[in-house]
Amino acid sequence: MGFNVAIDGPAGAGKSTIAKLVAAEEGLVYVDTGAMYRGLAVYFLGLGISAEETDRLAAACREVTMEIGYAGSVQQVYVNGENITGRLREESVGNMASRCAAVPAVRECLLDLQRRLAKTQNVIMDGRDIGTCVLPQADLKIFLTASVETRARRRYLELKEKGVACDLEEIAADIRERDERDSTRKTAPLKQAADAVLIDSSDLSIEEVVAVIASLCREKRKTPN
Ligand code: C5P
Repeated sequence: MGFNVAIDGPAGAGKSTIAKLVAAEEGLVYVDTGAMYRGLAVYFLGLGISAEETDRLAAACREVTMEIGYAGSVQQVYVNGENITGRLREESVGNMASRCAAVPAVRECLLDLQRRLAKTQNVIMDGRDIGTCVLPQADLKIFLTASVETRARRRYLELKEKGVACDLEEIAADIRERDERDSTRKTAPLKQAADAVLIDSSDLSIEEVVAVIASLCREKRKTPN
């Protein structure tokens, strides 16, 4: 087993930004499991399957191969051998990912790959159910959150910087909807593991959060579980 850090939390809490920086500082491989759900979403959309067609989703999952690679330190997602990384951040893909992630067969399809990645290398893995379900034995578990207002504002500024027209209220409503869907689904809902360290990043800078997690990593490596 590698040294495993699980970082879970709601959409927009800053998990990927922070996990990437901690990975670089602590020599860990960053694994973005949201990108895997997004990768499957690209595949399902391509097949014209909707999130409600659970039997078709399950059948498609039996046919698909998903692999993760790296271009430098940037994670790449391959679906049936094709690199579809460029499509992962599309709005329709995020939406489909969030909906089909509630389907047990879809979660099952990714579980093995996620566990395999953590077994063979030292990873910081970000998602919703890493500490509770994927890696219950992780050496360190972080639950990173921030208020809806903070998360919406961050996303708004990010989109504005890219020149994308957007509305703060709509973004906040979308975040609330995703939180609700992620935390109320029956299979592997978003929730803080009992042994996770809770970090609310609402009033903290990225550097402050990275410093806290990096220091927890070093402590855990000195005195493993
Ligand atoms: O983190 P990201 O927004 O890229 O994840 C896309 C979607 O995948 C989320 O809305 C969430 O519903 C789902 N997801 C999940 N479990 C994970 C990672 C992501 O259900 N471990």
